[in-house]
Amino acid sequence: MKPQQPKPTRLTTTLIAMGFLGSALAVQAADKVVNLYTARHYASDDAIYQKFTQKTGIKVNVVSAGDEPLLERIRSEGAASPADVILLADAARLWKAEQDGLLAPIQSKALNQAIPADKRSGNMWVGLTSRARVIVIDPNKVKVADIRAYEDLAKPNFKGMVCTRSASHPYMLSLIGAQLATNGPEKTESWMRGIVDNLARQSKGGDTDQIRAVASGECAIAVTNSYYYARLMRSDKPADKEVVARTKVIWPNQAGAGSHMNISGGGITKNAPNAKNAIAFLEFLASKEIQAEFADGNNEWPVVPGVVYKNPALESLGRFKADPMPVAKYAGQQRTAQQLVDKINWK
Ligand code: FE
Repeated sequence: MKPQQPKPTRLTTTLIAMGFLGSALAVQAADKVVNLYTARHYASDDAIYQKFTQKTGIKVNVVSAGDEPLLERIRSEGAASPADVILLADAARLWKAEQDGLLAPIQSKALNQAIPADKRSGNMWVGLTSRARVIVIDPNKVKVADIRAYEDLAKPNFKGMVCTRSASHPYMLSLIGAQLATNGPEKTESWMRGIVDNLARQSKGGDTDQIRAVASGECAIAVTNSYYYARLMRSDKPADKEVVARTKVIWPNQAGAGSHMNISGGGITKNAPNAKNAIAFLEFLASKEIQAEFADGNNEWPVVPGVVYKNPALESLGRFKADPMPVAKYAGQQRTAQQLVDKINWK
């Protein structure tokens, strides 16, 4: 994906105006705001931000864009960045934000207690929702018994059958990172070479495109985040129903470590002008009341233990074993993962 420059928003316009005014009134007004840069873009999130404002009186200014453009924007804004909170859709990207020095430690006992240690990077960033990376197959072409693990994607009998999005995408880098942490660099490299040998086409498109390509017969096996499949399951469109009818989800590695889990989550920016409000905002998203809503809006799972909710699509996929590997562990492997992707020329 080509990084796109986010469109100017009302927030930036307001802040520029405030900069020129510099009045006490403007400063006071800014005290009751939190400036959110988010790569999540669901209508259900907006309803949650409104609830936060109702509860605290703190207004949420939202700048929405893809992960990479948001990070680039914070970098280029530097010390003058109005961003307080950044929400990203992958542990690998959050790790990158931390490595690039864009985040400040989150001083919050409540968050430390609420979010399990394996779903955050110390107190630098926290997971807020979780998702699994699953395998989708055409059951007419592939036997369920033959593909039980990510490692099986490299089996020689699947030549010309496998589809994935770009291996340089954070979702793939996180999966490769988890393989590196589990199996080491040599095994991981030969696994990756095996997948490239099995590709039905050059890796391209998003996860939903891979699912559709299985349904259309272009591929027989694909890898996707769970919520993309659940979204299709909940769709009323006949074409989406057809895709679901033609495909089957496999929970990978159930006999081993469990399925690879990723997160969407957030951190507080290094130069946050409203750091206190930013903490209050993250604590709100981690509250039991909001966790279920926040996760369910995108067919994900809460990260806070003990929060239960019913999502008919996820329920019908059945229970599964999740890999307990800490998110920071595989996220930290992404540089090595990217080097391997480049080395074997997996586009
Ligand atoms: Fe996604």
